Amino acid sequence: MGDDAVKVLIIGAGAVGLCTAYRLAQRQVADITVVERDQVGAGASGRAAGIITGQLWSPTGVAVRALSITGFRQFSDELHGYRFGDVGCLNLFETEAVEKRRRLYPLYDQHGVHHEELSVTQIERRWPAVHLRPGLMGLFDKDGGYSEPDRMLPALASACRALGVDVRESCPVTGLRHRGGDTRGVETEGGPIEADVVVCTTHVWSRTLLQQHGHQVPIKAFRHQRFLTAPSDPAPELPAINAHPYGGYMRPAEKGAVLVGVETPEVGEVGVDDPAFHMDELNIDDTVRGTARQVLELLPGVSDETWADERVGALCFSADGEPVLGRLADGTFIATAFHSGGFAYSPAAGQLLAEWITTGAPSVDVTAFAPDRFDRLTTVEFLTRSMTHTQYNSYSAIGAPRKF
Ligand SMILES: Cc1cc2nc3c(=O)[nH]c(=O)nc-3n(C[C@H](O)[C@H](O)[C@H](O)COP(=O)(O)OP(=O)(O)OC[C@H]3O[C@@H](n4cnc5c(N)ncnc54)[C@H](O)[C@@H]3O)c2cc1C
Repeated sequence: MGDDAVKVLIIGAGAVGLCTAYRLAQRQVADITVVERDQVGAGASGRAAGIITGQLWSPTGVAVRALSITGFRQFSDELHGYRFGDVGCLNLFETEAVEKRRRLYPLYDQHGVHHEELSVTQIERRWPAVHLRPGLMGLFDKDGGYSEPDRMLPALASACRALGVDVRESCPVTGLRHRGGDTRGVETEGGPIEADVVVCTTHVWSRTLLQQHGHQVPIKAFRHQRFLTAPSDPAPELPAINAHPYGGYMRPAEKGAVLVGVETPEVGEVGVDDPAFHMDELNIDDTVRGTARQVLELLPGVSDETWADERVGALCFSADGEPVLGRLADGTFIATAFHSGGFAYSPAAGQLLAEWITTGAPSVDVTAFAPDRFDRLTTVEFLTRSMTHTQYNSYSAIGAPRKF
């Protein structure tokens, strides 16, 4: 395309939609509209923990995430009121799992992803607030960290608006508009909007929105929640920690608080058959609060008596565990199913979509994320089979894409 007269319409004002709009605006695309059915960040993005690491498991995932890590640092310089939490990310494993991890080191080296093995003693010496049980090891990624959604999303939305992007809230999209077999805009509750390019960044809602036009996107949603401790002074010094052996993860938060997150492994998927589904409908139960307390055992000095904030939302997973990023048969761009790492992927997803729209191709080969990689049988089988998150982890080819 490479044409600044192109009109782009993005559905969804989460992290992915806003990053796409921002990168397009920086590339001098003059006519960009973001249409959000609720408010900016009302979906998963405003509920995310925002932990970021480059230590993924697939060649495309590692290459794309490396772009994101650069992107977050650029946002620190570019977005007013936003700073990337540059504390590094420590990924914890049972010691016997280390061999499997080591096989990924050549891939990490190829993409400049930092990886430093640390023993329990070394971890406790580096971050004295952390206390670990024996039999674990850490893989540190000094370039990882976290991005506070409550800061990044408003900062991105303001930056988009300052660059001329029309960010329309309370405007649900009800379907796509087609001309000659190609998408040429959307229908909304407020009337049609014409566009040359449509980008669908509607996360768990994508399947329901797109299936009326014959697109079957094999994705499932699973509940996920995060908690915030009361502020503490002094703040415990710690990196972002993906603590799989403890069933969750944590990171530093504002005013010395600690954010703790956990998945809900034995609970079934979240059905998103109704386009009016809202993540506020999801509840947190006491079992999950108990798991969150268990994760906090890593920080013996931090009290878990009351949570100052609790947020629940849904993660989105494809049939093989990898994201869905590319073009559908009618030309609609789609970016969804970023497993538990969609916030971390968002700067790169936005950049690649912006490159694709303006130059005709993304700078990283994302064929492995193509929406048409799933055959009909796989798609139908995946969508009709109901499963818990644990069952999904053994179903997907990648195998247990946990918190990354
Ligand atoms: C508790 C929790 C913790 C998480 N922690 C992390 C983490 O540490 N690191 C990480 O990388 N990821 C994390 N995630 C995952 C991450 O939040 C998501 O992968 C990411 O936010 C997805 O971004 P998105 O923009 O694709 O989706 P969303 O933020 O859900 O945005 C989609 C938007 O589309 C809108 N929409 C839907 N349908 C329509 C329609 N018909 N018309 C108009 N608008 C519509 C929705 O209202 C929504 O605002 C976490 C998620 C949860 C729930």
